[in-house]
Amino acid sequence: MMIKNKPCPICGAGHLTRQSIAETITYKGITEDYLHVFSVCDVCRVEQADAEEMKLNKRSVIKAKKMIDGLLTGEEVRDIRKNWCISQDDAARIFGGGPKAFSKYENDDVSQAESMDKLIRLAVDFPEVFARLKEQSGLTKYKGKVEILAFSPRVEAINSLSAPALSMSFVRRKFSAHFKSPVESAH
Ligand SMILES: [Zn+2]
Repeated sequence: MMIKNKPCPICGAGHLTRQSIAETITYKGITEDYLHVFSVCDVCRVEQADAEEMKLNKRSVIKAKKMIDGLLTGEEVRDIRKNWCISQDDAARIFGGGPKAFSKYENDDVSQAESMDKLIRLAVDFPEVFARLKEQSGLTKYKGKVEILAFSPRVEAINSLSAPALSMSFVRRKFSAHFKSPVESAH
């Protein structure tokens, strides 16, 4: 990335060229690489970082720490959320963490708590968990016959599991929540 534009605020004569170098951070005894960005003036040669570059570097460091902590990176959280086809606001309603939580996680402005990380991974591994959390948040808005039919193979699949009673009560709750009528009327 080589962006030559802004005048140098230090000497006032030159212009800044952005550069990036591989830096390392050692955290909890583990060393991880990250990209450090800064600008160099073509006249006074002073290396400097403006507010935007400092923010980028802070995010890179937090991302590296997440990797060392074994947490999902911002990019991974964004991919997961997009795969669920929900907005950042919806994700915060479903998983908690505050209204801007997912924007902060995805931009690597903050590390998500270990408990949040585990909940997201659990919801990825078990779609029923995600469906239940979404339902509890009031975001589930299935309507019409297309969605009812879409549940049919799922009911069969769950029936074939080893704990049919438990699974069926889960399915029944979903149906009653979605359609506000007895399960029988859906058949
Ligand atoms: Zn300068």
